[in-house]
Amino acid sequence: MRRLAQCRALLVVVLASAAAMVSTSAPAQNRLAERAAMIETIKGHARSSASAVEGQGIDPAVLTTMGKVPRHLFVPEEQRSAAYGDRPLPIGYGQTISQPFIVALMTDLINVRPGDSVLEIGTGSGYQAAVLSPLAGKVYSIEIIPQLGERAAARLAELRYDNVEVKVGDGYYGWPARAPFDGIVVTAAASHIPPPLVEQLAKGGRMVVPVGGPFATQFLMLVEKRRDGSITTRQLLPVSFVPLRGGGAR
Ligand code: SAH
Repeated sequence: MRRLAQCRALLVVVLASAAAMVSTSAPAQNRLAERAAMIETIKGHARSSASAVEGQGIDPAVLTTMGKVPRHLFVPEEQRSAAYGDRPLPIGYGQTISQPFIVALMTDLINVRPGDSVLEIGTGSGYQAAVLSPLAGKVYSIEIIPQLGERAAARLAELRYDNVEVKVGDGYYGWPARAPFDGIVVTAAASHIPPPLVEQLAKGGRMVVPVGGPFATQFLMLVEKRRDGSITTRQLLPVSFVPLRGGGAR
């Protein structure tokens, strides 16, 4: 009798842990239809911003990846129902996760190739880093607000984005120990293009960075470092980002 009770207790534990496994892995699988709708919206935006996306639309590999990353797990609980909408959302500490089209555009513009080393400034929720992860060899991301950086690092590890390394610090100065980078994505608006980031861009590399003051029009800029080391910059489209903070940003 006692043994039976013990067996029952064991079974309950086994079932409870199986249920826990299902409940943690299921959210990544569901909401497929919402992600598919989000991709269609991104494609529509890309058609109407043809000059910004260089005429060819968003790279299908970027769209495929965004169709898989569970965006709802990167936003606070109370924002989950709105996670796949076509707009930025608050993620706490006065910061926001970018609109899906902007994430797609920035990822597309840096032309990530397998094996590339990519640097992101402004980890925020970790969503942009998760989108970069399957496309790149290695993703480095810097966040200035410790609580956001730590939370994003834990979330990325839990969802097995294993090639992402997050650091808390001032991204204006880049990550010299990991440079050079084939691509750099800056997800907060600076008053100017940070020279340390241009320095840390590999030859043939590309950087996207919003430039402009918080109350002025900001523009997304594309910076390219040619094979001969020369720099070209192009102004693409008006955007609205939270300001880049920290020592060098002013
Ligand atoms: N890429 C993020 C959204 C970023 S919002 C995502 O996918 O969720 C911009 C982020 O940049 C904020 O979290 C803000 O704290 C951070 N930030 C601002 N200035 C910074 C700096 N100098 N270095 C690193 N991160 C910075």
